[in-house]
Amino acid sequence: RSKEMGKNQTHFYSKVIHDAIHRKVELERELHNAVTKDEFVVYYQPQIDCSTEKIIGAEALVRWKHPTKGLIGPYEFIPIAEEIGLIDKIGEYVLETTCERLGYWNEKYKILGTRFSVAVNLSPLQLSLHGFVETVQRILKKHKVNPEQLELEVTESTLIKGTDASSQVLFDLANLGIPLALDDFGTGHSSLLQLQKYPFQILKIDRSFVQSIEDNPDDIVFLEAINAFSKTLGILTVVEGVETKAQKEWCQKLSFDRIQGFYFAKPMPVNEFEDLLLKMDLQH
Ligand code: C2E
Ligand code: MG
Ligand code: MG
Ligand code: MG
Repeated sequence: RSKEMGKNQTHFYSKVIHDAIHRKVELERELHNAVTKDEFVVYYQPQIDCSTEKIIGAEALVRWKHPTKGLIGPYEFIPIAEEIGLIDKIGEYVLETTCERLGYWNEKYKILGTRFSVAVNLSPLQLSLHGFVETVQRILKKHKVNPEQLELEVTESTLIKGTDASSQVLFDLANLGIPLALDDFGTGHSSLLQLQKYPFQILKIDRSFVQSIEDNPDDIVFLEAINAFSKTLGILTVVEGVETKAQKEWCQKLSFDRIQGFYFAKPMPVNEFEDLLLKMDLQH
């Protein structure tokens, strides 16, 4: 009997694995079409000023509007895009779409000169693309966006895997006046030394910290230390993944600069985000 169950289990797992591989192969094939057919959309998740609780910007997060499979998240298709050489096109689409919107908001909502900015995630591969800095510069100019209105986020794995040339790109982007953010801090091989070594202006603390804050006092000690260190270096802190009122209050108590999370809003389509913008007071 147990032998029989074991066999069924094996059968079950091999089916799960088979389905997963099948889906990946399909997505790989369909991703090429998605690029030419323009099937991507950019969602915006508000970032909130920790003390005033007002919106001071957003993070741009890409989704794939698949014609039959529904909305597919970046955790699933970005790694595939990186593997099959499509990340440059998708990455540029996200940059262009975001800057186009920022340019439009500059005209329509007069956000130029306010603290409002939008963050875009970069894949490590984009940093080694030929002429990447020039591409960013061209897109900013085309849409009349100031460099400080666009933030660029990279993760620590980017820095670890990166070559000297890609680290030079980070310096070049920072020299243009674009604020750089170190994303997902606290996952993987974290080192505060990265903050000193590279021109980061923003530190994004991974959601794993805030999510255990209520039952793990060690996290509070750690967060206090990160915050103190960041303040000393003049680096702005963003806490990701704030889902509850209690977590928000902890962030305020520890005096972080910004928060982002489902407690305030999930990532949303641009029209919904614009409705929010219309209701808010812009902070100067
Ligand atoms: P990320 O840059 O760390 O973005 C934050 C992720 O956390 C988003 O997932 C967001 O929806 C999610 N999140 C925000 N608040 C909460 C919360 O309170 N609770 C929980 N559980 N999750 C929250 P999303 O949109 O699925 O994106 C996943 C990752 O995909 C991003 O992580 C980023 O690394 C990558 N990504 C997204 N857009 C792009 C892009 O345009 N280019 C590249 N290269 N990567 C992207
Ligand atoms: Mg990010
Ligand atoms: Mg993150
Ligand atoms: Mg991430």
